[in-house]
Amino acid sequence: MSLPAYHTVRDLSRALQDGAVSSTEITREYLDRIDRLDSQVKAYLYVDPDGAMAMAREADTLIRKGEASPLTGVPIGIKDVICIEGIPNTCGSKILQNYVPPYSATVIEKLKSEHVVFLGKLNMDEFAMGSSTENSRFQVTRNPWDLERIPGGSSGGSAAAVAAALSPAALGTDTGGSIRQPAALCGIVGLKPTYGRVSRFGLVAFASSLDQIGPMTRSVWDAAMLLNVIAGHDPKDSTSMPREVPDYTEGLEEGVKGMRIGIPDEYFIEGIDPEVEKAVRDAIEALKDGGAEVVRLSLPHTEYAIATYYIIATAEASSNLARYDGVRYGYREASAKALKEMYEKTRSEGFGTEVKRRIMLGTYVLSAGYYEAYYRKAQQVRTLIRRDFAEAFEKCDVIMTPTTPTPAFRVGEKTDDPLQMYLSDIFTISANLAGLPGISVPCGWTQAGLPIGVQFLGATFSEPIVLRAAYSFEKRFPFADRYPDLVAR
Ligand code: GLN
Repeated sequence: MSLPAYHTVRDLSRALQDGAVSSTEITREYLDRIDRLDSQVKAYLYVDPDGAMAMAREADTLIRKGEASPLTGVPIGIKDVICIEGIPNTCGSKILQNYVPPYSATVIEKLKSEHVVFLGKLNMDEFAMGSSTENSRFQVTRNPWDLERIPGGSSGGSAAAVAAALSPAALGTDTGGSIRQPAALCGIVGLKPTYGRVSRFGLVAFASSLDQIGPMTRSVWDAAMLLNVIAGHDPKDSTSMPREVPDYTEGLEEGVKGMRIGIPDEYFIEGIDPEVEKAVRDAIEALKDGGAEVVRLSLPHTEYAIATYYIIATAEASSNLARYDGVRYGYREASAKALKEMYEKTRSEGFGTEVKRRIMLGTYVLSAGYYEAYYRKAQQVRTLIRRDFAEAFEKCDVIMTPTTPTPAFRVGEKTDDPLQMYLSDIFTISANLAGLPGISVPCGWTQAGLPIGVQFLGATFSEPIVLRAAYSFEKRFPFADRYPDLVAR
């Protein structure tokens, strides 16, 4: 099976506009690839061939008439937590197994109005809780670089689909790293925008003060192209910011000359894989060669980030997930004879182990007597973490760190030890607590052939700078046409 003819959304978009290829041809190619390869990767929970082909034909008509925008006719996969009207939305959970949303998320409406083609819905950890996609109630997605390994999570289906060329791009969501971590482990680009940059309307809530939707792509330019479309204020999401949306592709070429790059001591710690550390340090050197100035700095409250996150995220989750009662959505346990029994059985069977663990933790930290000691304290520490970053960004323009402490681990390696699993988010979680934009870009492959990611973080709404630094690095280390062997097999 041959490699895709176009490696990036940008190339694909040009070819579509030039008439070198049609959206129906491209969409057919991706649907065929899914048919042939997804039984090994298991990225998709739902494929919509008829819907996709219909959207592709419509896109082709617009392109012929000269009425296309840059993303018209480009296929994309969507994480199964972002609602598309009339298409099942499971969140990787049995409790939403039969849920078909009667409306679309704002990001979906925006993509629809550009005539993007939706290929289907992508696998994820149940309710986006996890770092390996092993918490999906339906299937374990595999890392296309080594099928014995996890793709990362919770947007593991999105990352694996893009890495295996089962879609040129995808949308993921990031509450504590779920876009950036799987992007790093699958060798693609993942961008978590500033909190409030992209509407969360129609995104099934996990932790509302942390969740953000973002693009997962094969290049930084592609991430900017997608952000151009999905960003912006939405009256249906009161936390989305009424700020203008710039053209994020503009200024990418300007380079890093004079840019101050902060390297936090706390992100190069014991336990980090030596190959990961080396690749990230080389990436820093590459930008230094490009004229950037490297500044050493400290983010002293980093050590509390994981604890803080697992209090705040679980507290919000326990409240958000209270709505699944067997009455309003999806699954209901049929054997129950009384209402209370129905609630209990539905929730006991509808939710998986990790989700139940989070609901219990969250309920505990919010309960009378513990609220002050845990939830309130965590909110105070969150402020300290935010202040660390505010101070750091007085000394630098972007911060560079590893995205993950290790490359992809083996399926089953951490499933018995939730704490070990939580630790894989150590470098990504702080950005969510502080609401900052972050991007992961491939910066190398281990000797065993596993991808390594470098993360760029910026001050709130500094996506243009974060993208410019990432793009500048990617230019020195292009990887968009680098695919796992499986793709050509
Ligand atoms: N792995 C983290 C968690 O399990 C982050 C998940 C996410 O970003 N959705 O909570």
